[in-house]
Amino acid sequence: MNDLARRVWVVTFAALLIFVVYEIIKTVLFPHISVINSHVITVIVVAVMTFFVSRYALGRYGQALAEIQRQTAITEETNRLLAGVLATMREAVVIVDSQMRVALYNEAAARIFKLSVADAGKPGRGRKTSGNAVGEDTNAEQTNARSQLPPVGASSAADSPRIYRLTDATRDPAINSAFNRVLEDKAPVELRVEMAGRLGHSFQLHVAPLGQELAVGVFFDINQLERVERVRREFFANLSHELRTPLTAMLACSETLLEGAIDDPANRTRFLETLHKHAVRMNDLISDISDLSAIESGQVELALKPVALCSVVAHVIALVESRKADNDISFSTSIPDGMLVQADRTRLEQILYNLIDNAVKFNRPRGTVTVAAEEERAYVVIRVEDTGVGIAASDLTRVFERLYRSDKSRSRKTEGTGLGLAIVKHLVHAHGGEVSVSSELGRGSRFTFTMPVPARAVESGN
Ligand code: ADP
Repeated sequence: MNDLARRVWVVTFAALLIFVVYEIIKTVLFPHISVINSHVITVIVVAVMTFFVSRYALGRYGQALAEIQRQTAITEETNRLLAGVLATMREAVVIVDSQMRVALYNEAAARIFKLSVADAGKPGRGRKTSGNAVGEDTNAEQTNARSQLPPVGASSAADSPRIYRLTDATRDPAINSAFNRVLEDKAPVELRVEMAGRLGHSFQLHVAPLGQELAVGVFFDINQLERVERVRREFFANLSHELRTPLTAMLACSETLLEGAIDDPANRTRFLETLHKHAVRMNDLISDISDLSAIESGQVELALKPVALCSVVAHVIALVESRKADNDISFSTSIPDGMLVQADRTRLEQILYNLIDNAVKFNRPRGTVTVAAEEERAYVVIRVEDTGVGIAASDLTRVFERLYRSDKSRSRKTEGTGLGLAIVKHLVHAHGGEVSVSSELGRGSRFTFTMPVPARAVESGN
């Protein structure tokens, strides 16, 4: 019998006793009292007794109840904060209890595993359980339906959060045994896991004990990191190649000149021209690299003001034409008169120069280059389109990388540093715009970028 029940019994007996004594005293002392007066006195006595009984029986529990309410509020607040933190994490987090049941997970985990997104962030321990795990993945649902796994418990509430075994969420033996090991040994483990199936992702998994009964696993998506690392490696490999090619040619020319060609009037000019051409190429490459790193590190300050797009495009086309006097490419523009963009004029010229120059370089003989613009909400969308060789679908996502060339053998023959599109991407982003490309091999490419429309549509100083 608990303390509260014992107290209730004691005071009930005491009250009964007092009531009996009171009735006897009333009968002996006031034998002629009227029925109404007797009832009034009885009611008063019962009320007073009830008041003292309640205070005695429940007084101590009132404080305990307030404390429980306070603790519950703190726990709810902590859970809310924890759920918020887990929801914003890009890493998948799964907490498993000693019976290998999923006690808590976040949305990132629900997206990777066969877990319900709706139940993400809701503590699983001690809650009611229901049927199969239902994740976003329809395959997952089918797998679960096929496996007919019995629920860990039973529940009739259709909307109550579910409890999953870890094996319901993933059958990956490496993941399951990592959690098992941590729960048994109480020591953290770290491993790389390859997710089979359509995601085909690699994760670095850290599993660590959480108190005596739980283990927490954090899944770091390393695909992105690996991609960055690969791009960095390729950049340095390409850079040393790009520098070595002109340097080798310059060394060969200068050695030939030193070995006597300098006295050969017929050939020395040719060697000097080759030397100069490669020196110019190295100079271009190095100035592009320092330009790019200045833009990337935010050192370039943009002098933003309303700029008339038509005049910039006309200027850039004239510049490209003058530098490629022998080309037979025709240009067409479709830009509304007076269209303004909020941009740094010099940088906008640089963006357009790189795109239009590429559109000419990678065009077919007698091809065309079209520059068009239209306003869409707060942005001007500018397209540079060509009728050239096009870019393979597999290269489309990579052409904006530094020193990336879609067709190495062909591209090396055309002049250029391989940094133009990387510069375009960073400059467009610095203006608050976006850049993209679509292309069809053998038919041509279309580069699209956006520039903000000026807040006040009055052009100043162009
Ligand atoms: P570069 O032109 O100096 O080689 P870019 O960064 O400007 O360097 O371009 C990177 C690569 O993207 C080019 O080498 C080429 O393979 C491809 N590319 C860029 N623009 C076009 C285009 N309009 N048509 C076809 N391929 C292109």
